[in-house]
Amino acid sequence: MKFQYIAVIFVIIILPISLVIGFYTQSQIDIINRQTTYTTKLNGATYDAVKAFQLNTTNSYYSSVSDSKIRDIEASVNTFYNSLMASLSYTKSELQTYVPAIVYTLYDGYYIYGKRYNTYSDTQINDSGGLIDMTIDTQLNDANKYEYGLKPFVYYSCRYFVDSKTDFVVNFTLDNFISIYGNIDGTYESLSGYLINVDDCELNSENKVYKYKGSEIEETETLKEYLKFNNGESSGVRDGEYTYVVYQNQKIYKSGNTYFWYNQGTAHTVENQEIKNAVDRQTQSAIDYYTDAYNFSNWVNDKLGNIRQENIRLADNSRQLEFTATEPIFETKNQDPEDIASTFNQHRTAVIKNSIISNLITAINSYNGNISSYEYALPELTEEDWEKVVNNVCIISFMQGMPIGGKYFNNYVVIPNDKNNEFVDVDSIYILTSDGQYHMPNCTELVENSAYQQTIVGGYINTSFEKQTMDGSYYYKHVQNSNVQMPYTACYNCIVNAGGKYDLQNDIFANETNRIGSYDISILRNSYLTFLAREKYNLYKTNN
Ligand SMILES: [Zn+2]
Repeated sequence: MKFQYIAVIFVIIILPISLVIGFYTQSQIDIINRQTTYTTKLNGATYDAVKAFQLNTTNSYYSSVSDSKIRDIEASVNTFYNSLMASLSYTKSELQTYVPAIVYTLYDGYYIYGKRYNTYSDTQINDSGGLIDMTIDTQLNDANKYEYGLKPFVYYSCRYFVDSKTDFVVNFTLDNFISIYGNIDGTYESLSGYLINVDDCELNSENKVYKYKGSEIEETETLKEYLKFNNGESSGVRDGEYTYVVYQNQKIYKSGNTYFWYNQGTAHTVENQEIKNAVDRQTQSAIDYYTDAYNFSNWVNDKLGNIRQENIRLADNSRQLEFTATEPIFETKNQDPEDIASTFNQHRTAVIKNSIISNLITAINSYNGNISSYEYALPELTEEDWEKVVNNVCIISFMQGMPIGGKYFNNYVVIPNDKNNEFVDVDSIYILTSDGQYHMPNCTELVENSAYQQTIVGGYINTSFEKQTMDGSYYYKHVQNSNVQMPYTACYNCIVNAGGKYDLQNDIFANETNRIGSYDISILRNSYLTFLAREKYNLYKTNN
């Protein structure tokens, strides 16, 4: 064959193939690049939304009130869209088309932000003053009847049915706190509390729990916080460190003979003698926490000890087939509800997951984002992401339908909010030592040195270590020396540098031997279990 032939054949056959392959490869690279870009932007916007939510909620200790929470979430949603708008050059309404749902999981339930039916246009008044009943058809045909906003709050709840005398609902939370309401043995009950393993409790002569999981609980504690006032003074109280007691969900501070509560730089004096007496008595929050939990858990074990997954019923009385395990769920003897592997905990996480999935399927699959060619569908969340959702306050954001060269983008992001006043997680306590540092309870420097453990001076929820702002200046609540306002600093070993830690759940929290190898951790555990219980007891509970 002549050389020219080979050249011609090469040009005719090989060149188009390589061009097509090159073009195809490039378009695949483009798709992957765009996919990565969108995921990164979604991640960034969701992270910004978490930060905004943190900022608004951690500065107000009692922002658990529903109204202010909705306001904080709406502000966080705005941050999400502003962040996406800045990085993706789309308008908000264009972006809303691609975001079928943003989920805010909270302590005892969750909100879904998305397209919701506008209830204000639901009813119309007729001529004689009566309400016109709008049929579903006319509602669906009218685009104006939908708006973007928060759908009603959904509790992590589950219904159990034994017979006509025992038919009740349990609301679960991100930890061991539950609320029960409904008929039990023919009596209507409505109560809530923390579930603990009653076998782990030792009672004193007053029937109070003084020892839990092999650790002695400190009876009374002196809690302190630095406060800053507008212009340095309010109602005769100056900037400084004050002791406080949480009385009926409110921190009451004491300065000499003045008792006051604090709000945004102002001291409000308290004259009620009953409150003053309570502050002088000091509370035994940690002891009260374990004692209440012990009594509640005993009650639950007696009344609900036989409830199993086969008792689960949906609102229409049908069985929920995904639930098949046969172990008793609410047993608190021989079972530790705080153990991650316990039946209670497995069931709790299944209830939360089930509820979120079924509501998200409804929200996303029926979503009409005005793109006729795209079918919205809930992507499958990984087990790792579910692990975050069932144990943390989180934001889950979904973005889909954006054309990326022949395909459509469809992804989601889960960002946990590790600094919140929604609940006190086992890893949300910081421990203070007299050398001016604060630590995680599983810090190697504390665990491996019992002399250092003796320098522990207190411990508080991590949100109280956030910078506080006042009149443009800032301060910290926990100070080593109130005269110079020097704050405690983060331990380099455990907080600044995330390494250097033992397993918190197993080595510290549940470790009844009080030893890790040759290290004695009894002082550390006594302190930690006291601080954890006190903060849990003192934090406001929405469903109490
Ligand atoms: Zn440390």
